[in-house]
Amino acid sequence: MYDPVNDVKCGVRTTALNEELGQVGCVLSDKTGTLTQNVMAFVKCSVGGRVYSADDGIDGAVHPGFVDLNLRDGESGVLLDGSSEGCAAAKTHTLAKSSALRAAASARDANVVAFLRHLATCHTVVPATDEAQNNSSDGESTAADDGSSGAVFGGLRYQASSPDEEALVTGAALLGRRLLSNAAGEITCETHPPDGSTDHLVTGGRGNGGDERGGVGLERCEVLAVNEFTSARKRMSVVVRDVHTGVCTLLLKGADNAVLERLAETDGSGEEIANVKSHLDEFAREGLRTLVLAQREVPKHELSAWLEAYDEAQAALVDREDALAEVAERIERNCVLVGATAVEDKLQDGVPETIETLRRAGCLVWMLTGDKLETAVSIANTCRLIDADGELAIVQESDFVSQGDTGGKINPYFLRDKSREAVEDAKRGCKFGLVIEGGALQHALSTDESQAQFLALCRASSGVVCCRVSPIQKARVTTLMKKRGGFVTMGVGDGANDVGMIKAAHIGVGISGREGRAAVLASDYSVGQFRFLANLLLVHGRWSAKRNREVVRLFLVIFGYFGYFGYFGYFW
Ligand SMILES: [Mg+2]
Repeated sequence: MYDPVNDVKCGVRTTALNEELGQVGCVLSDKTGTLTQNVMAFVKCSVGGRVYSADDGIDGAVHPGFVDLNLRDGESGVLLDGSSEGCAAAKTHTLAKSSALRAAASARDANVVAFLRHLATCHTVVPATDEAQNNSSDGESTAADDGSSGAVFGGLRYQASSPDEEALVTGAALLGRRLLSNAAGEITCETHPPDGSTDHLVTGGRGNGGDERGGVGLERCEVLAVNEFTSARKRMSVVVRDVHTGVCTLLLKGADNAVLERLAETDGSGEEIANVKSHLDEFAREGLRTLVLAQREVPKHELSAWLEAYDEAQAALVDREDALAEVAERIERNCVLVGATAVEDKLQDGVPETIETLRRAGCLVWMLTGDKLETAVSIANTCRLIDADGELAIVQESDFVSQGDTGGKINPYFLRDKSREAVEDAKRGCKFGLVIEGGALQHALSTDESQAQFLALCRASSGVVCCRVSPIQKARVTTLMKKRGGFVTMGVGDGANDVGMIKAAHIGVGISGREGRAAVLASDYSVGQFRFLANLLLVHGRWSAKRNREVVRLFLVIFGYFGYFGYFGYFW
């Protein structure tokens, strides 16, 4: 169970649970980074009512200016490591091949310019000088060090807290808006026209001045406030002031349901929103992770009052997080849509086979994710967690709210009826996968009765996917399966948001991924990839149970032998 790609060995933090490995009946797994690689590639976007993707390129070929633009060293003016880093990023972020998007960017299409500016500004990514690249003469040492797209442009490596952000900022850099620095409350970006006309240019290197020749320019903005991403808010925003024009702007980025409800209602905005919603559904059906971008100009009088409240919340000693969320809520409103992004995260090797093996061995495998319903269903289908030929039972929050005579109140009988139907279907041999959204799960877990009905519904289904769930809901579902379901449960996750689930389960497994060490440190066992679970449960679990049985048998033999001869020996 050694992962040669990331050089990770299996870690064991307990010896008391080995024999329970063979008795696991329900595996509850996170999606991103656990089933998938957590290596994000920026592949599609929706801007100004149209979708841009790599398919726009002529036969998928990279635009002539593309390679030169990103691989020239600022100081030497020679091609930088043309065979590794830059090309790897270009191959991963296929959106940069879109000739339509590149043409729109070079024609300074207002929508595309605003979209790229948003991508390069609204984040917490810090560019750092890539020492390895700069020190290595052959330029190959960093090519595959972390398997990331972490493109190096003129000696800069982007360091991000989430792989999504890194992908988006790298994508913007490939499309002509390169982040140079994000320090001391100021963001500096370098702009190029992303077409062949830049072939002769030497790019500005490491932010060493305002080179304005031939369309290359520097843009600086002051960061006044950062409202950070949390799993409850499902969005982040920054307030920036343009150093040249003095205009203050709020840039908002987040999950579609969190951002779309914060858009201003203007003429034509309804159509725009309907358009982007249909694009988002299309992206999600392909299994892509989506984000929506929006912005608004903040008037000076509003900003000064808000900044005071923001500073106060920053200094709060009690309930600081709530205070900051409440302050952010006040400014994140009446925004204008900028666009939407779609990022691809590939499945890890051997995931579908592992899930199938576990299911054939009698284990239930459930997926709990914070992603959109369509994305979750698409991934669940790909990794054979739900039978592709079976039906889908989708439970959403709106199902609990009666439209008719109860006047929009919660319908307490919905789950009862649904679970009765499901049990009857299961008896007739109909297979169906259950997909439940976070809002509906809230109702399902609210009372004793609803929990029992939810459990009956889950037992009747062939696979369960919980989407848009918060970390606390992951832990509550695990506890429900453990306490009321009577299963030996295993929680599998890779990030800090999975720690609750890992701790709630009988056995916690951490995947050593790109989301820090929190999950691994909280776990009983840690592995490099999901596929090792089959070995852990079906080989090591079985061996442990077998060894245990041998020990008990040996003990009985010894006890019987000495008991018998000891007893009769006494009388002889
Ligand atoms: Mg994760």
